[in-house]
Amino acid sequence: MTKSRRTPYAQQRPQELGGGVWSVPVPIPGNPLGYTLVYAVDSPKGPLLIDAGWNHPDAWTALSGGLATLGIDVASVIGVVVTHFHPDHAGLAGRVREASGAWIAMHEADAALVRFMHGMADGEHDDFQAQMLRRAGADPSEVAQVMPGRPAPPALPDRELRDGDLVELPRRKLRAVHTPGHTPGHICLHLEDADRLFTGDHVLPDITPHVGIYPYDRDDVDPLADFLESLERVAELGPLDALPAHEWIFPDVAARAAEIRDHHEKKLGRLGDQMAERVEPLTIWEVAAMMTWNRPWDDLPTMLRGMAAGEAAAHLRTLESRGKIRRITGGDAVRFQALDS
Ligand SMILES: [Zn+2]
Ligand SMILES: [Zn+2]
Repeated sequence: MTKSRRTPYAQQRPQELGGGVWSVPVPIPGNPLGYTLVYAVDSPKGPLLIDAGWNHPDAWTALSGGLATLGIDVASVIGVVVTHFHPDHAGLAGRVREASGAWIAMHEADAALVRFMHGMADGEHDDFQAQMLRRAGADPSEVAQVMPGRPAPPALPDRELRDGDLVELPRRKLRAVHTPGHTPGHICLHLEDADRLFTGDHVLPDITPHVGIYPYDRDDVDPLADFLESLERVAELGPLDALPAHEWIFPDVAARAAEIRDHHEKKLGRLGDQMAERVEPLTIWEVAAMMTWNRPWDDLPTMLRGMAAGEAAAHLRTLESRGKIRRITGGDAVRFQALDS
């Protein structure tokens, strides 16, 4: 994610938003993002949660206590729909299920990733990351530092959603809109009976979500192209009120989606120009070091360099599929070079 003005968690309160919708800020301990906004949507059978927050005792206290101040007993929750598998969204879903017997639902593509994570041993995971960093041209001394500790994978879902599915919620109309990019199975949720869109991390009012490729050198996916298309999809829904998972609620999701599209098109244009100025093929790491981030490359902590490289890889992949650059494989690391236009 890129930098922003932040609203501290301490300034956030559980809120009733009208129309049987509530929001509860749930802190993400030690993360500059501050908090996840968890939403509750009422139904005659009981409330449904959209996202659940980070799996941490303080976060659980904030979620269950926040719901209680709004008159909602966490034990009455009937389901948790997770916008995507990231730990600040899916982390507490398992705990809510334990407390209430609620089902957990997510898009089938993220469900597949969660199953993959459950099946991977820690050692395997570390080898996988180290290899991917080397192929991206990371300095071997950096490889050891970049790899963060692995949070426990989120709970396995009970239900899987596809694009256009209605979430089972009596007398409400809540539809899944598949918006891949930030993750392959990211969904927004359109509350059609109240003209609102729960946007997860896909569209946020001030920052833009991280869009990366992992492993960095994959050429069978193009998440940035997916993300741009997903922004278009959301814009087509019209000027709905957006209820994002971070920052604050904002009007006119279509306008913000168009802004984020422009931001990435400009970034792609700049990177294309920079690549055209360089004669020699560049590794993903070299490209990441050349791009503009919210801090100079040399000041970026190594873990953030790993994420910056993921973002560089996503932009390179899109330029490649648009025919602006080519990929050179066969060496120790994959490299990219501008095509003559
Ligand atoms: Zn996320
Ligand atoms: Zn998030």
